Amino acid sequence: MQESENENSSSYLWLILLLFIAVLGFRTYTYFEQVPIETENAALYEKPEISAKKECSIQKNSRVKVLKHKYNWVYVKTDKNKYGWMGSWMISSDYKVPINSISEATIVIDAGHGGEDSGALSIQGKQEKTYTLKYAKQLAEKLRKEGARVYMTRSSNETVSLSKRPLLAEQVHADAFISFHFDSSPQNNTATGFTTYYYHKDNGSLRLANDINSQLTSLGIDNRGVDFGNFLVLRDNTRPAVLLESGYINSARDFSMITDSNYQNQVTSDVVKGLKLFFEGKDENTVISNNS
Ligand SMILES: [Zn+2]
Repeated sequence: MQESENENSSSYLWLILLLFIAVLGFRTYTYFEQVPIETENAALYEKPEISAKKECSIQKNSRVKVLKHKYNWVYVKTDKNKYGWMGSWMISSDYKVPINSISEATIVIDAGHGGEDSGALSIQGKQEKTYTLKYAKQLAEKLRKEGARVYMTRSSNETVSLSKRPLLAEQVHADAFISFHFDSSPQNNTATGFTTYYYHKDNGSLRLANDINSQLTSLGIDNRGVDFGNFLVLRDNTRPAVLLESGYINSARDFSMITDSNYQNQVTSDVVKGLKLFFEGKDENTVISNNS
């Protein structure tokens, strides 16, 4: 009696173990399910980076298994047993890697003007391009500390065409695009304040503008709120994009803030907080895989 009870319980154990393995195997199978390539320009890269070496192209309608992801890149195994990285957008326009924190995000920072284009001038003739770069660099440093992948449309005093700026955001499939500028009024000392501009309502830009603006609560100058702005860098951008006019450069009072390191620090820290809110409060960024 004792003997057969032992036999029964050991066969139950085997059954449970087999079931466990079967479930685990099935889950692994579904997790690593193959997805079809629906774009023409898919390729395997050596690293998860647009400038990395391209190892081979991948035929449309072939299939890959997604094994892991980093930023908006996926590490895959092809149906020809090749391994490598590819941009998640190269799978299909619907395939998205979940970006749920700033440390997973790809962010393009645009320092307005530069090089031959000085931008607006302060009352004393100081150039807008100098300060846009200063703010852009400071924000880049803070975002990199948070683990984000940051690209800059310029990182020195160089001329960059307007159209190249949103193009960078498109190329790297940025999760956010932030452009720095300073306002100017027709006459000196007639306007003041900070404005957050968006162009597209439905691609996340308006939400990004609201999230950033909601954090600009202790600037020391007026927060003029969120507004629609018909700027090329926002208009020709399918990514969530905002343009920050961080004070009026030809207002003596605003300019004293613009050049003040406390204000600079406050602005860039508030933008980081706004971006955190944007990524962590996001709900539509779920993985959509086109399994068939
Ligand atoms: Zn400007």
